[in-house]
Amino acid sequence: MYDIIIIGGGPAGLTAGLYGARARLNVIMLERLSPGGQILNTDLVENYPGFPDGISGFELVDRMRSQAENFDLVIQNEEVVELELSPEKKVVATNKKRMETRAIILTCGATQKKLGIEGETLLTGRGVSYCATCDGPFYRDQEVAVIGGGDTAVEESIFLTRFVSKVYLIHRRDKLRAIKLLQDRAMGEEKIELVWDTIPLKILGKDGVEEIELKNVKSGEVTHKQLKGVFVLIGTQANSDLVKGMVELDKDGFIITDNTMGTNIPGVFAAGDVRSKSLRQVSTAVGEGAAASFSAEKYLEGFQ
Ligand SMILES: Cc1cc2nc3c(=O)[nH]c(=O)nc-3n(C[C@H](O)[C@H](O)[C@H](O)COP(=O)(O)OP(=O)(O)OC[C@H]3O[C@@H](n4cnc5c(N)ncnc54)[C@H](O)[C@@H]3O)c2cc1C
Repeated sequence: MYDIIIIGGGPAGLTAGLYGARARLNVIMLERLSPGGQILNTDLVENYPGFPDGISGFELVDRMRSQAENFDLVIQNEEVVELELSPEKKVVATNKKRMETRAIILTCGATQKKLGIEGETLLTGRGVSYCATCDGPFYRDQEVAVIGGGDTAVEESIFLTRFVSKVYLIHRRDKLRAIKLLQDRAMGEEKIELVWDTIPLKILGKDGVEEIELKNVKSGEVTHKQLKGVFVLIGTQANSDLVKGMVELDKDGFIITDNTMGTNIPGVFAAGDVRSKSLRQVSTAVGEGAAASFSAEKYLEGFQ
């Protein structure tokens, strides 16, 4: 019987693990891949405090992992495939075994939706990005494309105009889905050019993005634009399938918590990108991981 099982080894899980292990609880963290999470996909993190010259995503999470392991956090490379959650009993089944625990912290993160076109995977991290807040400043005075038409795509296009010389906002329909206020702002921004009824076919380039191939879905015309960055902002999917039907989710599938990171099931907490919230970053994930661990500890002591 564990005190806490943490599911997911990204920044939120590693921080929850650090706090739990340092509090001398019997904690285990389960990660289906190598610990680190999404931030492993980025070369340079410039907006995590404490690193004035930036730090690679790999090094940042490697440091988080060593720090947690210094306090004897046990990390196991296993995928959680099923959960049994009730206030009285919590069972975690992985691809290898079944375990019982008194509390659970869900830090399964999120996955950026992909276009699934040629060049996307190859050039990810070399011009293809899923996060303008993270990577926008790398494209100073360059031309970029944003793919999408929802609130995030439009908001991030406006954000990108602070750095880039031009944003092609490429949308498959002739109307944006974003709220009117954002649409008006985007339309009034001279650096943003809306490219309607258009889908990307290929992202081209050798060592980095050089060109994007586009198709107008109405006329069938195929065109190319030369640019340095492609921001794919077509949505973020919560890795919450495990808890569907048990833990309360928002309309987009993200886990709803209170401000202690507690879910609707006593003893089940959530932190990081899998939570319903406004900003998905390392800095928010680690803060929530710490809070979730603290709350789990209080729950185990009977204070919550
Ligand atoms: C390309 C890119 C660049 C980014 N750049 C920045 C940046 O510069 N600055 C910044 O602050 N943020 C950046 N972010 C965002 C940042 O990576 C996330 O906000 C952060 O990683 C969230 O941490 P997390 O621990 O909540 O989730 P994640 O990092 O998503 O980690 C979740 C982990 O859970 C594991 N998992 C999921 N399901 C299971 C299961 N069933 N069993 C076992 N393990 C499971 C996953 O394998 C994963 O390792 C970037 C994101 C991307 C995609």
